[in-house]
Amino acid sequence: MAKQRKFIFVTGGVLSSIGKGISAASIGMLMEARGIKVTMMKMDPYLNVDPGTMSPFQHGEVFVLDDGAETDLDLGHYSRFVQSAHFTRKNSFTTGRIYDAVIRRERAGGYLGKTVQVIPHITDEIKRHINEAAADADLAIVEVGGTVGDIESLPFLEAIRQMKVELGQENVLFVHLTLVPYIAAAGELKTKPTQHSVKELREIGIQPDMLLCRSDRKLDKDTKDKIGLFCNLSGSHVFSVIDVSSIYEVPLYLHEEGLDEKIVEKLGIWTSSPDLSRWKEMVKHIREPQGEVSIGIVGKHTDWRDSYKSLSEALVHGGVANDVRVNVVYIDAEDVEKGQIDLLKSVDAILVPGGFGERGVEGKIKAIEYARTEGVPYFGICLGMQLAVIEFARNVAKIKNASSAEFQPNGTENVIDLMESQKGVKDMGGTMRLGAYTCNILSKSGGKPTRAFMAYGKEVISERHRHRFEVANAFRERLEAKGLIVSGKHRNAEDGTELVEMVELPNHPWFLGCQFHPEFLSRPLAPHPLFAAFVKAAKVAGRGAQRALPNLNEKGKAVL
Ligand code: GLN
Repeated sequence: MAKQRKFIFVTGGVLSSIGKGISAASIGMLMEARGIKVTMMKMDPYLNVDPGTMSPFQHGEVFVLDDGAETDLDLGHYSRFVQSAHFTRKNSFTTGRIYDAVIRRERAGGYLGKTVQVIPHITDEIKRHINEAAADADLAIVEVGGTVGDIESLPFLEAIRQMKVELGQENVLFVHLTLVPYIAAAGELKTKPTQHSVKELREIGIQPDMLLCRSDRKLDKDTKDKIGLFCNLSGSHVFSVIDVSSIYEVPLYLHEEGLDEKIVEKLGIWTSSPDLSRWKEMVKHIREPQGEVSIGIVGKHTDWRDSYKSLSEALVHGGVANDVRVNVVYIDAEDVEKGQIDLLKSVDAILVPGGFGERGVEGKIKAIEYARTEGVPYFGICLGMQLAVIEFARNVAKIKNASSAEFQPNGTENVIDLMESQKGVKDMGGTMRLGAYTCNILSKSGGKPTRAFMAYGKEVISERHRHRFEVANAFRERLEAKGLIVSGKHRNAEDGTELVEMVELPNHPWFLGCQFHPEFLSRPLAPHPLFAAFVKAAKVAGRGAQRALPNLNEKGKAVL
């Protein structure tokens, strides 16, 4: 008989944002390091069919997969922690997707006249989705979005409760993450919120097998025993998750706590202890780097932090590759637009990330002009590449009204424009150029290897996309005649049309823009070549030591 597949369900209590995604990803990483074939998935309790149409400001980054799925940012964590898993749209689903499937089936007569109900029809659909996404793995780690007690997550919790009954205790594990706050006035860790959140879970029939307790300090044995007593489990199944300086330390910490050992014991899986040496080495580079660089991210002020999760992680990875700490400085494009160019003087390199909408665009263009003319390393990603092309068009190729159809729908010199096939499309969900496309790299230009080729060391690559607009081919010749190098192109096999994927400038320490999002493919154990090259340029060409450190406000935003 085929081996029984095992499941670990990770739920969260008390509060959101206490690290459920990282905890789930850490469990995945440890299980993989024990040689288990792991997959991970996220179930989100909102009604959007996917997060593609949601504001990153509300929901954090949209993480894009090779197949073009627009998923929750936790898929980004899973991708960075679990090396071998290949995630597809099956690995991230929402209540909206589940209902959509059920209602479509009902309309098609699939329920044979029955009354369609949450139990069993919605819960069956959830279980079907879980099983399908788990098909290729021996162990599936499933994160339940939201916090226990939310109305929205009830169907998911009911579905996983049923799975434990159906598959048996030894095949399904419930791991619950809670917060154990330290109250300074009382001088003690408070376990009550944990007790309440477990009580809520037990009311709906779920007894957690293990508790992960997020706190700012290690829980001692007495505290663990006390939590265990109130929550109906042994204190040996209570683990602390303390605040650590880098998220990549979390799995190492959980391993020290004995979590992975306990999991395999409970699930009856025989494995050797994990080999964590490479991971430890990587963490050491993060903790004790040999130097540091500062990178200014010029963006809309509403877009910071979580909306650039993968980007900031990719910069950390670029730092690992160069043994430096990367200090990210957020520079408000509107401040630069107002003329505060000096904000840019304090950083070693400048990055304009992906983005949507017109706000702050002129400030970003000014920052790019500064990087280009001052020889400051520049990396433009997606919108950041489009704006680099606009800047070059306006100031070098003298195409005065150069802009993007995104900001000037009726503009006459839109060097960035919609693809013909996209013109007139109205649907907002999934209509962008999404997912993996191949890119052919130009190996040499003017007798010298291109930056793109130097970084990747090969001529054919694949990268993930999420955008509507493209460099307009009609303007390419004029731009190239003025020195813009198109160092990466995608060729559509069907109609032979080409799309610009990468541009760069000669005679500049490092100036490169890419239409795709390289940050989605960067891994701590395999830093992305473009991020490694960019951070290296910041280290070598940035004026590091000679620059005064930037002033930062409490949010980490650069101020004059
Ligand atoms: N807004 C631009 C477009 O749609 C860039 C998108 C992005 O940066 N992800 O093409």
